[in-house]
Amino acid sequence: MSGTFVGMPAFPQAAREAVGNTTLRGNLRHATHTIRDKRARAVAELEDWAALREAGKQIKDHTLRHLDRYLVQVEEAVTAAGGTVHWAADADEANEIVARLVQETGESEVVKVKSMATQEIALNEALEARGIHAYETDLAELIVQLGKDRPSHILVPAIHRNRGEIRDIFRSEMSEWGRPAPEGLTDTPAELAEAARLHLREKFLRARVGISGANFVVAETGTLVVVESEGNGRMCLTLPETLISVVGIEKIVPRWQDLEVFLQTLPRSSTAERMNPYTSMWTGTTDEDGPRTFHLVLLDNGRTDTLADEVGRQALRCIRCSACLNVCPVYERAGGHAYGSVYPGPIGAILSPQLRGTGSEIDASLPYASSLCGACYEVCPVAIDIPEVLVHLRERVVQGGPAVRGGNRVVLKPAKGHAAERAAMRAAQWAFTHPGALRTGQRLASRTRRLHPRTLPGPGRAWSGSRDLPAVPAEPFRDWWQRTHGGKGGAK
Ligand code: SF4
Repeated sequence: MSGTFVGMPAFPQAAREAVGNTTLRGNLRHATHTIRDKRARAVAELEDWAALREAGKQIKDHTLRHLDRYLVQVEEAVTAAGGTVHWAADADEANEIVARLVQETGESEVVKVKSMATQEIALNEALEARGIHAYETDLAELIVQLGKDRPSHILVPAIHRNRGEIRDIFRSEMSEWGRPAPEGLTDTPAELAEAARLHLREKFLRARVGISGANFVVAETGTLVVVESEGNGRMCLTLPETLISVVGIEKIVPRWQDLEVFLQTLPRSSTAERMNPYTSMWTGTTDEDGPRTFHLVLLDNGRTDTLADEVGRQALRCIRCSACLNVCPVYERAGGHAYGSVYPGPIGAILSPQLRGTGSEIDASLPYASSLCGACYEVCPVAIDIPEVLVHLRERVVQGGPAVRGGNRVVLKPAKGHAAERAAMRAAQWAFTHPGALRTGQRLASRTRRLHPRTLPGPGRAWSGSRDLPAVPAEPFRDWWQRTHGGKGGAK
């Protein structure tokens, strides 16, 4: 059973601990720099990358604008193809549905394809509480699960582990879950992969229920798409008799033709591959081929709240490639656990506070977990302007206080700890709406500038202790403009 993120402290506290861990910093630096350089080369091969990026953005925006229509189309198409569609408003509902479906099969074990949606709703823990064991079959997810750990990266959940640590986890934990690690296992990649393959093989052959997410759902045919690199997904999607797929409602694309864009941008952005090794697609059930029973659980869990926010909704374009994590200087140093969510890094900083609301310390702190350098926006294959959303969410936190998600609305609660910032904003608002007072204040500040302290008193002391306060000019801009332009065109 993996650990959960429940009760995580605010980002600065969690990040401080992570920054002090030199092994973690070394693992992350090595891994993120390797992936980001490979991605840059893979993207540079395509002359039409900018056009593909814009097409991906347009397809996703169009789908989100007409999501109500496409969701109905998905339900009709999946049902017509022999599948059953279930609607889940939140995590509890989704977990209830999946647990009931597994119990109806009489099974107490399931195999899982790597899935962010099921991690988001803590499905493994919910199933475990009902006596059902879920086995992760993606190599990195297996490492996280065996190590009773938490994922720290979207694509490489065990990115914080080095080979030696993985060998130790396999040696000590595999026997508790099934086939033990081979005698004398070393930390070479080939041996570690073989140990995982042997351990998982017996699970694939025994399992009668598979659980997956999906990268895309094609509305016109009700086809689900999973892209992966290891082949474990293909095994989970084809061998069990029952397949249950839990998919966020934002994963829909209208047409097969739209996959032409995403099946180019996703592998290059995530694993720096021209195309990913395994692309599995299935439509309902097919006689004599694959699972006999197929269930699709469509998950909301805060997505319609997010959709209602004009600025924040662009986060729903995300195709979970993780390129933004690999270029983020904050992620590189703080690591994924500090974000307190299965969605770490820049995308997590804008997605978690929208999906969960900003009611907890960690969610209210996430919009500040960025230097706003913009590297995330530059690499995003669907052009999500993450810095814009971060600033927007900071405004929400400061003005409204922590928000708690509730049904389809956002409930605002008074904030603790942001009182000084709110008071400063209110003072600034008053000054900018009283131009006469602002002018008098600016002139007074210019005339007394030699008397100004070089550090701030009280709570501002720590901030100014490591920064130079900007010098006040001898003449306010408005007076300079009046003197040099004779009052024409603006500054009054
Ligand atoms: S926000 Fe963009 S770059 Fe980051 S994971 Fe999502 S699609 Fe990839």
